[in-house]
Amino acid sequence: MLGQMIKKPLLISGLIEHAVRFHGDTDVISVETTGGIERTHWEKIGINARRLASTLGKLGVEPGDRCGTIAWNNRRHLEIYFGVSGGGMVCHTLNPRLAPETLVYVINHAKDKILFVDRTFLPLVANLAPKLETVRRVVVLGPRDAEVGAMLEGLMFYDELLEAGDEAFKWPELDEMTASSLCYTSGTTGHPKGVVYSHRSTVLHSLVGCGPDAINIAARDTVMPVVPMFHVNAWGVPYIAAMQGARLVLPGPQLDGPSLAQLIDTEQVTLALGVPTIWMGLLAALRDGSATAASMKRTIVGGSALPPSMIAAFQDEFGIELIHAWGMTETSPLGTLNQLKSKHVGMDSAQLVELRKGQGRPPYGVELRIVGEDNMPLANDGLTQGRLQIRGHWIVDTYFGMDAPALTPDGWFDTGDIASLDAEGYLVIKDRAKDVIKSGGEWIASVELENIAIAHPGIANAAVIAAQHEKWDERPVVVAVKSPGSELDAAGLLAWFDGKVPAWQKPDAAFFVDALPVSGTGKVLKKELREIYGAVLTGNPASCEA
Ligand code: ADP
Repeated sequence: MLGQMIKKPLLISGLIEHAVRFHGDTDVISVETTGGIERTHWEKIGINARRLASTLGKLGVEPGDRCGTIAWNNRRHLEIYFGVSGGGMVCHTLNPRLAPETLVYVINHAKDKILFVDRTFLPLVANLAPKLETVRRVVVLGPRDAEVGAMLEGLMFYDELLEAGDEAFKWPELDEMTASSLCYTSGTTGHPKGVVYSHRSTVLHSLVGCGPDAINIAARDTVMPVVPMFHVNAWGVPYIAAMQGARLVLPGPQLDGPSLAQLIDTEQVTLALGVPTIWMGLLAALRDGSATAASMKRTIVGGSALPPSMIAAFQDEFGIELIHAWGMTETSPLGTLNQLKSKHVGMDSAQLVELRKGQGRPPYGVELRIVGEDNMPLANDGLTQGRLQIRGHWIVDTYFGMDAPALTPDGWFDTGDIASLDAEGYLVIKDRAKDVIKSGGEWIASVELENIAIAHPGIANAAVIAAQHEKWDERPVVVAVKSPGSELDAAGLLAWFDGKVPAWQKPDAAFFVDALPVSGTGKVLKKELREIYGAVLTGNPASCEA
């Protein structure tokens, strides 16, 4: 016997129509690419999304076609999220920080028909244009502008498209399994791979993601996704904000600490989300005293390991709770969030610090396990380390354009991370499998060593990488950025590890740099560091100063 309830597909158009109907006058605030702040509200976003959807067919785009975006977090990009997906096309967010040849690969691989481009990225697109095989139209996000129009032949202007659109457009009743958006992994090894989200997976991810033990977004919140909309759909926040009718602040191109701090104060942001490097900048700005961030109660931090010293600094100095989360492009991205249980309330602070430095536990909808080299599950005792695998409603099955699923024979996605899990699912990421330092048959996790280095007051940022070693195969080497005015030297930094880790895990050498190389998504490029420092313990460390 089947249940006898209304069967209604889970669709992204339903999210925006909910926001229009019940939260129509709630603000959406957008820092514009050309400067200035634009204020609008959910009703207008919905109207513009419908107008956009109504024009796509006239541009020769068919259901299922990919529409690329190269844009900051701003109002027009938000409308494209809803207009393109709601209209039955696939919103393909592109990371402008990828190398040009990678961007060309990704656009051609996805067979993007249209590109929606912020003015900032027009020179980039003009450069790539001769190599783009499928793109028929490039639409600039803004009003007609003669100077911009001269930059590339045949440019169209977003605002003109909308003027010609139909605000009474009726959203198609799609199958909920229809593809809604596409995001490529950054492809640190080999070509990037595309992950195709569905309407169903996106709506389920939003339903769970808004909950109090997940991102915790209510209608009363003012949410600022600093995480780019080209990075796993800004962690799903645009959809969740519409579902909940939250005030939304889209910070545009200025992501430095002082700009963000000021925006938090002027717009009274209650919740922000981003990678740890962004919050390092914010911390420095708050310490300068130019802003207070008094309205901000919490931030969700993920994408790479959050140093515990940052958790304490934000909490103790500014009363802001940092909630550590883990996920990846293939997981939509919510995999775990570090939210407490009732039994943790009242824990002593040392225990709490220990618990909070991990990545948290999975919400309903995803399952986790760790496995050994033989793919057999390992103990969930909080100690044993293994390869982290995941499955669930918003986890990738098959990469775009591939025939075979990306799963183990028993249906799990292998994340490439090395982790431990405790009996309640609390996850601690030790390292990426490819970054683990294999010293004399033992593994040394770089994340813990980095956390120790960053906790030194004279250190602003640090990465620990494997350098080849004649006797031990690999040994850890720390590459660090000093805090302004710090006079720490390599010996001092190495001595800082004494007593904090077993002696054999201590890095063998330390180097200082002005900045660490980071990827388009703000993650430290360890591969590049290995190329520079990988031979310092064996060959001639000519270019490095120990
Ligand atoms: P890529 O960095 O390859 O583009 P993603 O952006 O999808 O891919 O990043 C996913 C990876 O980032 C995870 O597999 C994990 O290694 C790392 N990561 C994400 N969040 C965290 C976290 N909170 N702590 C440690 N590592 C994290």
